Amino acid sequence: MVDRRQFLTTVAAGVAAGAVPLEAVAEPRASGPSPVPQLSAGLAPPAFHPLALGAIRPRGWLQRQLRTQADGLSGHLDEFWPDVGQSQWFGGKAEGWERAPYWLDGAIPLAWLLDDQPMKARISRYVDVILAQQRPDGWYGPYPEDAVTKRYDMWAILLANKVLAQYHDVTGDPRVLAAITRSLHALLSGLDRTPLYGWGRFRWYEGLVPVYHVYERAPEPWLLELARKLRAQGVDFQALFATDDLAAPTPRRGLWKWTKHVVNTAMAAKASALSWRLDQRPADRTFAKGMIAFLDQHHGQVTGMFAGDECLAGKNPLQGTELCSVVEFMYSLEQLFSVFGDPFFGDRLERVAFNALPATFAPDMWSHQYDQQVNQAQCTINPDHSWTTNGPESNLYGLEPNFGCCTSNMHQGWPKFVAHLWMESPDEGLVAAAWAPCQIETSSHDVPIRVDVETDYPFRDTVKVVIEPDAPVRFPLRLRVPAWATGATVRIGSGGEMPMTPGTLHVIDRQWDAGRVTLALRFPMRPKASVRYNESVAVERGPLVYALRIGEEWTRVNADKPNRELPHGDFEVRPTTPWNYGLVLDPARPEDSLTFEDRPIGDRPFSPEGAGVVARARGRQIPGWKLAHGWAGEVSPADVAWSDPGKAPTDQPVENVTLIPYGCTNIRITEFPRVR
Ligand SMILES: [Zn+2]
Repeated sequence: MVDRRQFLTTVAAGVAAGAVPLEAVAEPRASGPSPVPQLSAGLAPPAFHPLALGAIRPRGWLQRQLRTQADGLSGHLDEFWPDVGQSQWFGGKAEGWERAPYWLDGAIPLAWLLDDQPMKARISRYVDVILAQQRPDGWYGPYPEDAVTKRYDMWAILLANKVLAQYHDVTGDPRVLAAITRSLHALLSGLDRTPLYGWGRFRWYEGLVPVYHVYERAPEPWLLELARKLRAQGVDFQALFATDDLAAPTPRRGLWKWTKHVVNTAMAAKASALSWRLDQRPADRTFAKGMIAFLDQHHGQVTGMFAGDECLAGKNPLQGTELCSVVEFMYSLEQLFSVFGDPFFGDRLERVAFNALPATFAPDMWSHQYDQQVNQAQCTINPDHSWTTNGPESNLYGLEPNFGCCTSNMHQGWPKFVAHLWMESPDEGLVAAAWAPCQIETSSHDVPIRVDVETDYPFRDTVKVVIEPDAPVRFPLRLRVPAWATGATVRIGSGGEMPMTPGTLHVIDRQWDAGRVTLALRFPMRPKASVRYNESVAVERGPLVYALRIGEEWTRVNADKPNRELPHGDFEVRPTTPWNYGLVLDPARPEDSLTFEDRPIGDRPFSPEGAGVVARARGRQIPGWKLAHGWAGEVSPADVAWSDPGKAPTDQPVENVTLIPYGCTNIRITEFPRVR
């Protein structure tokens, strides 16, 4: 925990909070050509560089998850949703702003990682239209003709170039690199005529991603001039966090504020890291960790996210977290791990990816929520809601509940997670940033290498990594050891088990012989109970959070609204089994009252039926804990009777209750009162 003054002192001092464990610092070696694009002195290289898009392929449960996504809304949205299919970006008459670029931002990596030919063909046609519509002065088609003289919010331009950089990365199409370069050049002078305001001012750093993409391939000084101009015109988040009151939750039906906007906040977590590459300011190195600690303290949820529905909403598990903020925070964490090489960001990335991300989709990924709640007893059209600034449909599972931003932006979560599982280091090494089944094709010192990561992590605690170079080659392998994994070990081939230190990157620097070398990793997962809002308790084990499994009844609603033909309809979800349990659990000794059972991982790993692990706990119903304002009532400290039997809120018998991973639930209780 950091208090406000401590946080600001930390930021000002530029020390401690962002310190990278020694083992994470890569010492560049002098030999051999680097597979990382050569960087000029003008831009500091990241600690670790993401592999080219497509070098990492999903396997096992992760491949099934991406296939489910492509068979759901992500792979079909352009076929029926006008704001994407008829977008002005694609030559149509509908929306010409952020929605089509948002969809491409996830659809491009999704289609290429799955090698989904029909989807790839459609996307390539769309990109061809974007290129064909680009004007000689560099502005893209939807950019209004008079925008060179009138005020225009540059956000969509920043976004589109970031998206096209991904397309260039995976296809190598030189026309795309040329188009991005022309657009950035137009932006360089355009920003003098119409400086950043609105969304562009709060999201300026997204523009640095395509600037760096071009600069790493053609290091021309004007690109860094553009990067500095974007930063100078954009919001200074370090100053914002030092001056604005971001700690207080936005009141119910409160005032919408740019500065407390949850998606802007999630995106801005990477601003300082991208800025650091420009001039290595010490404060840029330390800010992100301090910002995350501040958000945890005042708005943090057990999922690794912070509440914002859609302005920062405090720690109450009834407040919502917008889906856009989930996928954007994941991307920020991927960038933060890349730039600073700090395993902390990999831990947090897994926490969000395995909990907050899957929970907010229906298991078939045809519908999603705008806002998810950690304690979510039911999802209904609810005019009596207590969101800060969102509307009554925000926790429905649907096509575009509340607003269509998440409908267009949600697609990037899983595919970018896959693309950032492993990275390469400047010393020709490989780095495991996050753990999930995948296959990597890369090289070191020009020797082709294949890596197979065989695991059911996070549902199991073992990971098998098979390294297979074509010829003998020496390179360091860095393995992220989660901070919670006390007792972690690795065994190379038939050798003995070696301990690994939690919260570090474990380095194995050796000669890898041609053929297969197998590493067996173990990350022991122990139950943990954390005391949270109003003295409630939440159960965690490894990277997974656990929540009460509740029977569900799905009811179709809004069938008369446009574009709601099944399978992409809107649904309410109501409980068919009791949810008002307190847990009989001593937070100091959770292992005494919890047992975990492995189950087969379902075709849909993040569904109540497909849960790959379940927890047995003991609980008692609390008759006074009822629905309020259409939601579960607030957990009251008075319901927490662990330490004071005289205040026991229930005379109900102790029962066995089943918890499943949070990401597998659609409705749930996650923060429980504690009862004797
Ligand atoms: Zn959204």
